[in-house]
Amino acid sequence: MPEIPLVGPIPQIGYGTWTRTGDAARQCVLWALEAGYRHIDTAVGYGNEAEVGAALAEARVARSEVFVTTKVPPDHLGPGMVRPLVERSLDKLRTDQVDLLLVHWPSPKFGMEDYLAQLGEAFDQGLARFIGVSNFTASQIDRAIGLLAPRTITTNQVEIHPLMQNRAIVEHCRRCDIPLTAYSPLARGAVADVPEIVAIAKAHGATPGQIALAFLIAEGFVVIPTSSRRARIVENLGALDVKLSDAEIATMRGLDRGSRMVNPSWAPKWDG
Ligand code: NAP
Repeated sequence: MPEIPLVGPIPQIGYGTWTRTGDAARQCVLWALEAGYRHIDTAVGYGNEAEVGAALAEARVARSEVFVTTKVPPDHLGPGMVRPLVERSLDKLRTDQVDLLLVHWPSPKFGMEDYLAQLGEAFDQGLARFIGVSNFTASQIDRAIGLLAPRTITTNQVEIHPLMQNRAIVEHCRRCDIPLTAYSPLARGAVADVPEIVAIAKAHGATPGQIALAFLIAEGFVVIPTSSRRARIVENLGALDVKLSDAEIATMRGLDRGSRMVNPSWAPKWDG
């Protein structure tokens, strides 16, 4: 089993579960745990917490060894809504406490003062070991730091991959000492078709997916790739063994095209 570094308390590579549903979700999470992943990323909005919970119960890995993240969707951030929702998540995940509870998207409808107070209470009451946010912009991060203090923001989970390096929010979070989790780290599969990445992969006897993940890991991000296929779930974890040269990292940094893949109607006005 590979040694998985930590970023703060978070294992630096995790298995993402967006678009994994039904029994396939249970099966994929089991494959991930068998392969050696010890971090699973789910969300209420993915509709698969029960399957993730089933896989956690079935796997031959102690619950305490797996870092489980879930997220509260923006339409459940109204007054009094967070705790009952998190309790339902805990039931589905078959656990007393998630490792990390995130606000999935800043709410365009409900007040941040209220919903972050509810997130803080969930933490204070022990429903989550750590709390954080996702898809927050720089100004939203600044407000969140003040509203959650003295509690800390364990991560801001945002889209980051070689084609969208999201530098404005990355630099802001670094200034604020907030670790970043890179979602869609494979650009939803598009990294496999980038000639520069294919060339670096050939030089390492690796795959383009592994090169994309190795680059993001070298940049200090947590990465949460997903795949529906067992071989690729294993392959992606193998990115931990790929070490890129300074010249290769410079090439990878040069691939940023600002190609955003995830931009729903409720997204905030992005930085940069
Ligand atoms: P991703 O991990 O960037 O890419 C997944 C896609 O790439 C799948 O279509 C997969 O196809 C393919 N793939 C997997 N491994 C590959 C490899 N080694 N080489 C080439 N292609 C490969 O996409 P994502 O699901 O958008 O992001 C990952 C996770 O981030 C999600 O599952 C979710 O947990 C999280 N996320 C969070 C947010 C948020 O708002 N917080 C938003 C988006 C995503 P196959 O299935 O055919 O392998």
